[in-house]
Amino acid sequence: MPIEYPPRISLARLPTPLQPLDRLTEKYSAPHGGPRLWVKRDDLTESGMSGNKLRKLEFIAGAARDRGCDTLITCGGIQSNHCRTTALVGARLGMRVQLILRGEHSGAADGNLLVDQLAGASCGFYPPREYFSRQAELFEYWRDFYEHRGHRALCIPTGASDGLGIWGYIAGAEELLEDCRALGFEPDQIICATGSGGTQAGLTLGCHLLGARSRVTGFAVCDSAEYFQQKVREDVSEWKAGREDATDPGKLDVTVNADYIGPGYAIADEAVYRTIAEVANLEGLLLDPVYTGKAFHGLLQELHGGRYQHCENLVFVHTGGHFGLFPHREHFGFLQ
Ligand SMILES: *Cc1c(COP(=O)(O)O)cnc(C)c1O
Repeated sequence: MPIEYPPRISLARLPTPLQPLDRLTEKYSAPHGGPRLWVKRDDLTESGMSGNKLRKLEFIAGAARDRGCDTLITCGGIQSNHCRTTALVGARLGMRVQLILRGEHSGAADGNLLVDQLAGASCGFYPPREYFSRQAELFEYWRDFYEHRGHRALCIPTGASDGLGIWGYIAGAEELLEDCRALGFEPDQIICATGSGGTQAGLTLGCHLLGARSRVTGFAVCDSAEYFQQKVREDVSEWKAGREDATDPGKLDVTVNADYIGPGYAIADEAVYRTIAEVANLEGLLLDPVYTGKAFHGLLQELHGGRYQHCENLVFVHTGGHFGLFPHREHFGFLQ
């Protein structure tokens, strides 16, 4: 049965390309009996709005339009790709955007924050402790602020990961499986970086709904494996509420690798920066230090250890993040 999708505003350039990574396969996978490596180029969903958040925001924007909202409120770190994408989506659709940003800011804006400002988003900055402990209150404060001024606001959770945003990667899974089918295979493994869980949740649920035997593994960039196992199931439960669907969130295969988080969220060891340089050099593919670079570095270690030996084809979903590379420029001193 075809999947019936809720209202959506088309914003991304789809389908994104699926490309083989033959030089990386030859160097890092084939010598260990591993699979052919492919990359699903979701860093090419758009230019300024590039990355995985745009797929989710197509459905969130659809809901905002249907509910008569003219304002989007969301949250994230100062270098949040999700906030940058939301800022541009709001501008594109003629909606106001209020960002609740974690961290302090002084001097010239860089990376994603610069784009937030260019897009005209209103930015509120909060110290991490306040950001985490008062998050619900902050959303409420800003929603009331706009509603008292005659606007209607839609609050979008971290990373647009919830029962609505999950549609983005149900559709993303359908597209990815179709790309592979057209090339004559079904991927044994699909891998993505996982940060707020929604991409992994959508890919996992999408593969389940489509009856694919592909296994989805999220490489965590923060929190823990247990956290994401629960978060993915929460998103799926929220998606399922009020639907006629037999999916049992508790029975989904939710595979998380939390071995490559390193020192912490958005903090990486030099090995990750070296992987970013090598992948750019070998394949012309640009990864970011917070998500895709860390996840891809983890994947190369796992290939080295023979983890994916039983697989023929492995697809890495490139979720974007380019703007976050430049604020990390001081970590690339080894290139000089
Ligand atoms: C947000 C983000 C992720 C993580 O996706 P989630 O759905 O939040 O788990 C991965 N890569 C990039 C570049 C991102 O911006």
